Amino acid sequence: MADLDAIIFNVQKFSTEDGPGIRTTVFFKGCPMRCPWCHNPESQQFKPEVVWHGGRCLGDHGCIEVCPENALSAEAEGIVVDRGRCKGCAKCVAFCPASALEIHGRHIGVEELFERVARDAVFYRNSGGGVTLSGGEPLAQAKAVLAFMRLLRGAGIHTALDTCGVASESVLKEALEWVDLVLLDIKTADLDKHLAWTGVPFSRVEKAAQIIEESRVPVWVRTPVIPGYTAEENLIRGVARFVAETLHQCERHDLLAFSNLCTAKYKQLGMSFALSGASLLGPDDMMHLCDVARNAGSLHVHWSGPIRPAEVSV
Ligand code: SF4
Ligand code: SF4
Repeated sequence: MADLDAIIFNVQKFSTEDGPGIRTTVFFKGCPMRCPWCHNPESQQFKPEVVWHGGRCLGDHGCIEVCPENALSAEAEGIVVDRGRCKGCAKCVAFCPASALEIHGRHIGVEELFERVARDAVFYRNSGGGVTLSGGEPLAQAKAVLAFMRLLRGAGIHTALDTCGVASESVLKEALEWVDLVLLDIKTADLDKHLAWTGVPFSRVEKAAQIIEESRVPVWVRTPVIPGYTAEENLIRGVARFVAETLHQCERHDLLAFSNLCTAKYKQLGMSFALSGASLLGPDDMMHLCDVARNAGSLHVHWSGPIRPAEVSV
């Protein structure tokens, strides 16, 4: 097989939050959705992206000279990347003596990627873990991802697919032949809000859920709980009802509390973050929404994520 090429932006070893046991999570770059709360803004584009870390920069401007595309310039705010010009060659990153430039995303052959994750097979076996394909949206790189899944199945490695459900039906059906678990992200079941917030109609997610249900592959549903967006009783109730009615093999429903740790990444990428001023949720908020989801019929509801520290009375 000629080695296929994928673009990834992270390989996280010893991950414990993306499926059972100890896992390696591979983050594939590029996503069809544009959620305003996206925790990994570097996951959205299907190409490498350079970012500049001002605190490390020596100010010598050597990177500007080395860029073959004239994509870098020195502005009042520091080194600025013209993203229309940048081709992601990483010459500036290799040149920078202070490691002040970093590139998110790199191309990697599927066989090389498999060899890298298979090194930890003994940890997966001993912990009941495996490999999780996440993103971005892994199924957007269908050829490479399906080939990667086949290699994992051939090695007997438990494989989980973290997906937003936006993929062609044939690609999703083939993927379901190779994976042991699906982590399906359902942000809201409200048709208007889903389209307005993600840019994608909910009918795409609904169809994916039906295909997953027919496949009998176990599924964990993940719902982000975002202040000003999804953190509403009626919206959580709507997702839970959808799960109860559509996904009968759902093994758990995770409510993921809003995190603002991504704020700096938005700035580095020159993107605005709609939730930069939003507060974290409290544990009571999350426990209450878990009750709402349970009462609406969703089983095995859990919550996780950062929370607002408890107020201390003096
Ligand atoms: S080469 Fe590195 S240290 Fe020098 S100006 Fe560019 S980013 Fe800063
Ligand atoms: S990655 Fe290449 S094209 Fe982009 S800014 Fe750096 S040197 Fe220029």
